[in-house]
Amino acid sequence: MFLRLLRCKDTIRITVDLLRHKELSKLKRKENEKFLKRLKKFKPQKLDSLIHPIHDEVFACTDCLQCANCCKTTGPKFIESDITRISKLFKMKTREFEDEYLRKDSEGEFVLKSVPCTFLGADNKCYIYDVRPKACREFPHTDRRKQTQILDHTLKNIEVCPAVYEIVEKLKKIPGVTAPSKSKGR
Ligand code: SF4
Ligand code: SF4
Repeated sequence: MFLRLLRCKDTIRITVDLLRHKELSKLKRKENEKFLKRLKKFKPQKLDSLIHPIHDEVFACTDCLQCANCCKTTGPKFIESDITRISKLFKMKTREFEDEYLRKDSEGEFVLKSVPCTFLGADNKCYIYDVRPKACREFPHTDRRKQTQILDHTLKNIEVCPAVYEIVEKLKKIPGVTAPSKSKGR
């Protein structure tokens, strides 16, 4: 984490103020809905080429240990390989692990029984960091390929993750992204 923050090029690191983030993301909800709807019209590769460098830039300046809002407010899905890996760490049978920590959601997927996540420490560190679920490793997915396909999730994640909020705000400042572009084939 520390080494990653050393790579931060912004003069000011992103300060994680979750109350302010909640207010701002609520205020910008309509604007963001409209903006992300517009992004759906972009060619997948083009949008990836715009978002991925901003993802790197923003996360280089974000200290997730000051935040942990994803772990506090939303839980990951646990796929079979996650359950196998984590129950092994606890020296539990997978069934025991499921009974102790998980429940099935309306789609029949394993999720946490409650949030904040059971594995989150008071210092915002994850007790099972090395074996954490794939969904946690990949959150908030803004470095994934084909961003056009996950913009509905990104819209929801703006309200969870201050880094996603920043990424979207930076994206809006790129010429031609917010204002209608006259050039063909975005
Ligand atoms: S919500 Fe975003 S900024 Fe906060 S800990 Fe999770 S990934 Fe990091
Ligand atoms: S498993 Fe770890 S990274 Fe995932 S939500 Fe829980 S505390 Fe956060």
